[in-house]
Amino acid sequence: MTRFIFITGGVVSSLGKGLATAALGALLQARGYKVRLRKLDPYLNVDPGTMSPTQHGEVFVTDDGAETDLDLGHYERFTGVSCRQSDNVTTGRIYSEVIAKERRGDYLGATVQVIPHVTDAIKAFIGSDLADEDFVLCEIGGTVGDIESLPFLEAIRQFGNDVGSDRALFIHATLLPYLPTAGELKTKPTQHSVKELLSVGIQPEVLLCRSDRPIPEGERRKIALFCNIRPERVIAALDADTIYQVPINYHQEGFDDQVLAYFGLPAERAPDLGQWNQIVQRLRAPEGEITIGIVGKYTSLIDSYKSLQEALIHGGIANNERVRLEWMDSTIFEADSPVASLEGVNGILVPGGFGERGTTGKIRAAQFARERKVPYFGICFGMQMAVIEAARNLAGLPEAGSTEFGEPRDPVVGLMTEWQRGNRRETRDTASDLGGTMRLGAYPCDLLPDSRLAEIYGALQISERHRHRYEVNIGYREALEEAGLHIVGLSPDGVLPEIVERRDHPWFIGVQFHPELKSRPFAPHPLFTSFIRAAIDQSRLV
Ligand code: GLN
Repeated sequence: MTRFIFITGGVVSSLGKGLATAALGALLQARGYKVRLRKLDPYLNVDPGTMSPTQHGEVFVTDDGAETDLDLGHYERFTGVSCRQSDNVTTGRIYSEVIAKERRGDYLGATVQVIPHVTDAIKAFIGSDLADEDFVLCEIGGTVGDIESLPFLEAIRQFGNDVGSDRALFIHATLLPYLPTAGELKTKPTQHSVKELLSVGIQPEVLLCRSDRPIPEGERRKIALFCNIRPERVIAALDADTIYQVPINYHQEGFDDQVLAYFGLPAERAPDLGQWNQIVQRLRAPEGEITIGIVGKYTSLIDSYKSLQEALIHGGIANNERVRLEWMDSTIFEADSPVASLEGVNGILVPGGFGERGTTGKIRAAQFARERKVPYFGICFGMQMAVIEAARNLAGLPEAGSTEFGEPRDPVVGLMTEWQRGNRRETRDTASDLGGTMRLGAYPCDLLPDSRLAEIYGALQISERHRHRYEVNIGYREALEEAGLHIVGLSPDGVLPEIVERRDHPWFIGVQFHPELKSRPFAPHPLFTSFIRAAIDQSRLV
């Protein structure tokens, strides 16, 4: 029997609802249950792919090529369950499906309305593509009270009614602000938020109260009384020093016990949280510390690089090292030399990005890493920048560039117009839509035997996730290899360069895919483990 848990948020955004959902998923999993985690986002974009990273944060890409909300990254990292397109939906996607059906004539003369047509489409999504999961956790994006979330709240209310209260649980996450002048945690915003939920017919059964200090017994009872919830189901969600502590804290607060109690499931045996304790211990007592400089363009909102940050931390866990991240806006290296900023770091990472602004700075960072023999990790755009740097500075092609910005004389990076995805031929041109038309999702890549990459991965064929429109131009292979930049990973048909490496350098690797999307705390990605190892070695040299 599949049970459904709906997680809404109130009072303010950024409460850590996504992490709470991921942590609850991990706790249920640690008790032997099969879980699936989903997110319903109430905005009109069909997916977050076309949104600015500095507005929305990272776009998390799944194996099946869906561009999704960054919370799905937390879900994967905490539970190890790979997400799919069917785990994230937006108002935009729901409406475009409803409107397409209306045009086809599927509604047979009916007036198409939010209730029941839109709500039915949301309910169908919640229950779709499942395979005997014990629990489906559905996080509702946004904050209760927003106009946008109403159809979703109505849909989950109906869904709860349809399956019955023994199969549906509503959890509400809120904030208990501490007012220093009053000397107390204030409960009124939480009361109002629950009232708002009640006005759409949803009575939450568990409250997750985010606060910076424990909830005194009196306040807990007050919340319980006013919100019509048992006191033991008012769970404190205290700030944690690392996100990997969150499942442990929640368990101590009785969160998973209360969820199981609600469903009448046994909770006597505690879940095995050994692996969580282990990584937290490693994070708190590392052997040393290294610094990685991240030269990107979206550094004003570091959530744009959520998976990257986590993957670097995972690389640190694997090496028992604290990884300090120094965020550097590449545009500042356009005018100023990067030397002063980069001299002190043990490794340089240039992450994914789009558009011309900031590229000169990234190219300079790649050049600095190459010349000074500092470990360099170029991811997607960061690989393309390293290729342009080598072409311009070493291969005698001063006008080398990418067709992403203009028509360079030497398009060492160019728009892919045709490629193979499994049995399907994908085609694009410059007039194609920008939304959802990149090379997206998992593609296989063959590694050169006896290469360092094959050693790092311990395999000759790998699969990694992609999200890009342009590719390194295989036509320049010879010129690049003469300049010392070797193509050591290729698509199986030998057309698309996937990995470049310098052999005259301690660690200089560029990858066209996004390895950070597949790194997990309990299974750090081998490229990040190896990069951090190289940075540690570099730090010992200095
Ligand atoms: N802008 C580049 C492209 O589309 C790189 C994309 C990325 O880094 N994700 O190919």
